[in-house]
Amino acid sequence: MIRRKDLNCGVVFEVVRGDITTQDVEAIVNAANARLAGGGGVDGAIHRAGGPAILAECKKIGGCPTGFAVVTTGGKLKAKWVIHAVGPIYAGLPQDPATLARTYQNSLRRAMEKKCSSVAFPSISTGVYGYPIEQAAPIAMNSCAEFVKNNPGIKMVRFVLFSDPDFALYVKLLDRLKE
Ligand code: ADP
Repeated sequence: MIRRKDLNCGVVFEVVRGDITTQDVEAIVNAANARLAGGGGVDGAIHRAGGPAILAECKKIGGCPTGFAVVTTGGKLKAKWVIHAVGPIYAGLPQDPATLARTYQNSLRRAMEKKCSSVAFPSISTGVYGYPIEQAAPIAMNSCAEFVKNNPGIKMVRFVLFSDPDFALYVKLLDRLKE
């Protein structure tokens, strides 16, 4: 299942129901933790599919503060790069939305530095980190839209959702997104 929208800045946004580890894009984003230690959820899936080389690179990097992102190679994945992004642990604080937005935008910044034209995101922070997806999804989409309008280079941003309700929510937001 896939939905597409052309933004008038020349960038395509896609919403896909699926598994991020199988996406044929130049970079996939991981919802990592600050120690880059691997974990459950999408993080565990990426390390399982990509093989031990990714965790070895993460160990060398050592860690990443909340709101930021670091890059490793993609190991055995189709994607050449994995961008390990550390989203906020949801606390209901006034700064949570800005921290989540910065996590997405810093991920896109890392992708640009690696000259990627296509990037796939999972729904950062909405699993174990507890961010309600109804609140997180518009932040995800709007922060990425704002970034690509202001920073030419990336041609396609794909949001990969792991469940039907999450996919439906993102489709609704994509339909409403200003071109
Ligand atoms: P966080 O700790 O940032 O909350 P999680 O991995 O717990 O990260 O969850 C983030 C989102 O990723 C959740 O919506 C979860 O359903 C989803 N997810 C889990 N596995 C995958 C996968 N293989 N591909 C895409 N999304 C996934």
